[in-house]
Amino acid sequence: MSQEKQEHRLPSPISNPENTVFLEAAQNNQLVLKHCNACKEVHYYPRTICPHCGSDDTTWVNSDGVGEIYSYTVMRRGVEVPFAMAYVRLTEGISLLTHLTNCDFDSIRVGQKVKVIFQETQDGQKTHLFEPL
Ligand SMILES: [Zn+2]
Repeated sequence: MSQEKQEHRLPSPISNPENTVFLEAAQNNQLVLKHCNACKEVHYYPRTICPHCGSDDTTWVNSDGVGEIYSYTVMRRGVEVPFAMAYVRLTEGISLLTHLTNCDFDSIRVGQKVKVIFQETQDGQKTHLFEPL
């Protein structure tokens, strides 16, 4: 159990022209999503072209950063520090793969309410992860 008090070192996101705004928002503790003005759908991971309808009329919107665990896994073997990853389904309707933190890994359950927080990665830039609500 004492091992789980150590923090897993988060990998740094790779920047590209389509996710620059997304990564900059994370530095200000804000999760943003791409919204399509043509079909009104939200999508993730950020792309210029809407994956639902192919329109390039997409804009950034702030996410509430609240959702629930759809699926998860806890990595304990073969890693320096155990860590948990989950697919979190946001209230906006999209799912994202993310790390979980500030929780007892044995008490994580599907359907659990979680909210976004931001932590520094290995190179000091902030990225999103989720903790129990
Ligand atoms: Zn669309």
